[in-house]
Amino acid sequence: MPKNVLVVDDSAMMRKIVIKNLKDCGFDVVVTEANDGLEGLEKFKAGAFDCVLSDWNMPNMDGLTMVKEIRKLDPTKKVAVIMITTEGSADKVKDAVLAGANNYLAKPFTPDRFKEKLAKILG
Ligand SMILES: [Mg+2]
Repeated sequence: MPKNVLVVDDSAMMRKIVIKNLKDCGFDVVVTEANDGLEGLEKFKAGAFDCVLSDWNMPNMDGLTMVKEIRKLDPTKKVAVIMITTEGSADKVKDAVLAGANNYLAKPFTPDRFKEKLAKILG
């Protein structure tokens, strides 16, 4: 069964890179894209996802707010949420974890680093 993955980023190029990495890793995934947190949340509500990969800085609704909203809908953390962001300071990582993110991937990332973070969830 393929895993349903929601990729949320305001950069179409970044979404492309994330999706390319997912495919290059050989993960069996069906990808849905959203271009900000608001659209991400709408698509999350409308779908059944195994994993959300989200940027932090986005217009309309940022990734941190979206994660908090997702966890209101999914308090038992059935859906894995990974933040992919340049916001890599210890404080930011802590904020993301407190908001309900499972893991954190710093941008820019290498294919190996990407695979390492995602293998547990999608492998
Ligand atoms: Mg962004």
